[in-house]
Amino acid sequence: MKCQHCGNEAEWVSNAEVYGRPYGTSHMIWLCRPCDAFVGCHNNTRTPKGRFLAKADLREARKKAHAVIDPLWQSGKYRRKTVYIRLKEAFGKEVHVGDTETVDECNEIIKTAMLIFQRHALTPTKTDKQV
Ligand SMILES: [Zn+2]
Repeated sequence: MKCQHCGNEAEWVSNAEVYGRPYGTSHMIWLCRPCDAFVGCHNNTRTPKGRFLAKADLREARKKAHAVIDPLWQSGKYRRKTVYIRLKEAFGKEVHVGDTETVDECNEIIKTAMLIFQRHALTPTKTDKQV
């Protein structure tokens, strides 16, 4: 698979190359070393999850988006399906953090998710007033 950033052929390697040890059950990735960009693969096949190799800034932004979205359903407050349906309604298309290609897209997801699900987080709480 080609790297979108530089046009080089990415290498199919274990993610131990980037994490220091194999991480997760499906640990094969397409890696472009010059760009430090990669994308994970489905079940250790050569099929990439998405068609975009993410650089460090995008990986960081995706992590932040997951940190906002995942607790919504992990806490049991909402069903996972509900979270993604509401996001889809807001964006007018399916939204997957792993499919994002820019930091801006991730920030947009974060902002929207907070508006939909955490309205209370935008108003000061008792603790905030005490500070
Ligand atoms: Zn590249």
